[in-house]
Amino acid sequence: MESIVLPSQALHGITPASAPEKTTSSPRRPRLASFSSTRDSSISWGRSHHHGSFLHALGCAGVMVLSPSLVVFYWISLSSFHGSINMAWQLMLEMGPINFFRFYAPRPSMAASIGYGAWLLVQAGLYLFLPSVISTGQLTPAGNLLKYRTNGLLAWFVTHGLFFGLSISGHLDPAILAKNWEGLLVAANIWGFLLASIAYIKAHVSPTHELDRKFSGSILYDMYMGIELNPRLGNTFDFKLFTNGRPGIIAWTLIDFSFIAYQYQLHGYITNTIVISTILHSIYAVDFFINEDWYLRTIDICHEHFGFYLAWGSAVWLPAMYTLQTQYLARNPVALSNLHALMILATGISGYIIFRSVNYQKDHVRRTKGNCQIWGAPAKVLHVKYKTADGLEHNSILLCSGWWGMARHVNYLGDLILSYSMCATCGFEDFLPWTYAIFMTVLLVHRCWRDEERCSMKYGKGWENYCKQVKWVIVPGIY
Ligand code: NDP
Repeated sequence: MESIVLPSQALHGITPASAPEKTTSSPRRPRLASFSSTRDSSISWGRSHHHGSFLHALGCAGVMVLSPSLVVFYWISLSSFHGSINMAWQLMLEMGPINFFRFYAPRPSMAASIGYGAWLLVQAGLYLFLPSVISTGQLTPAGNLLKYRTNGLLAWFVTHGLFFGLSISGHLDPAILAKNWEGLLVAANIWGFLLASIAYIKAHVSPTHELDRKFSGSILYDMYMGIELNPRLGNTFDFKLFTNGRPGIIAWTLIDFSFIAYQYQLHGYITNTIVISTILHSIYAVDFFINEDWYLRTIDICHEHFGFYLAWGSAVWLPAMYTLQTQYLARNPVALSNLHALMILATGISGYIIFRSVNYQKDHVRRTKGNCQIWGAPAKVLHVKYKTADGLEHNSILLCSGWWGMARHVNYLGDLILSYSMCATCGFEDFLPWTYAIFMTVLLVHRCWRDEERCSMKYGKGWENYCKQVKWVIVPGIY
């Protein structure tokens, strides 16, 4: 296991970016599989609750059935109803859902399944064998500090370089993903469910870090939210970082480019809207990989366990729903005046600048342990304490100046401005392409609630003080 115990780091002079200092020392407990130790809610950071109630289980089952159905319904609306959810819905009511899905649901295809399998293998190969910086994550609840291969940017360029190289040289139809979207959607769904099941079984029979597991008592909740925090194959193949980044975010822009080619092949031209939408997606995706090290200190890596939510979400929801704008525009071109298009682009980029600079401030202050300047003045930080599962107490800091002094999650505001700009490229004719922005609003507001609850449990009084100093949640002066 690639977990590092802090004293040995001091010995070897390793100072991980965000490694907090220990303030007390007590004998380390052996890391044995222990179901009960992970259920002590007083040291419960990571997942905030141990939801095991019947209602929670039912909710998880509902999401695991409804989300794939929604993805399929959207594909049907796009491919058979010109992107009109309303028309598809009306017909579904007339035919009844079972007949409707039986008639319209995407069919598997051998070629797409083989292609999808090859895509996963190529991405796994790039993850494992491309040269990589080795980055350090954040201390886990059980006191593990993990190393990660963060070579996503190189993988993004290699993948896109191959795609463009093969397309330009005439060896690949660039619209291949768009044309095989039906079969790919089926293959991705099968993989998403398989991966969530593998993660569930692995957590029971061969966990990577036993004390970083959480059990709720409900099979459905555990399946949905995950049990292991950082499941790995061997030392380096990290399920979470790989799945979110590679089949997820690298695919995002590749799919966009394929749908641009599809628009051209269908209509004989490329609209400014599909280009702007792809530029905004590309900024977001490339930014993610440039800052892959930063991602190791976000909620996904530090707190979310690996289950259906992240496995199926990254394998299916992300490529299928985050690309809705280009999928829609390829079939239903919207051309805007240059001024209008530039305004959308400028708004999107301003959202991105907010998003990046807020995230940078937090990362910078944590890396420098508060010894840095924020907006030209020394960073104002609050010193807080938390405990890990081994009973050790640690120090941490919360930034209270710059963006983080204006509201507790302004980064979400930047993300939302960017998301709504992406959708604005599709005009107002149909609701379907706006689903992404609405989803992001729900996701980020809900994430905010979950995060606040978790931080409050982790830092106790320290978090209360922070909330007293910084009153607004996402939008300064409004919410
Ligand atoms: P944050 O990066 O805001 O991380 C929240 C964590 O930061 C808290 O749990 C806490 O963790 C720490 N923290 C909170 N307040 C402070 C503070 N004042 N000073 C220092 N540390 C603090 O949240 P996310 O991980 O959710 O989001 C990261 C980015 O990713 C956001 O911009 C978001 O918009 C984006 N995102 C995008 C998604 C997408 O699908 N497109 C999905 C989710 C997020 P601790 O103290 O334990 O370290």
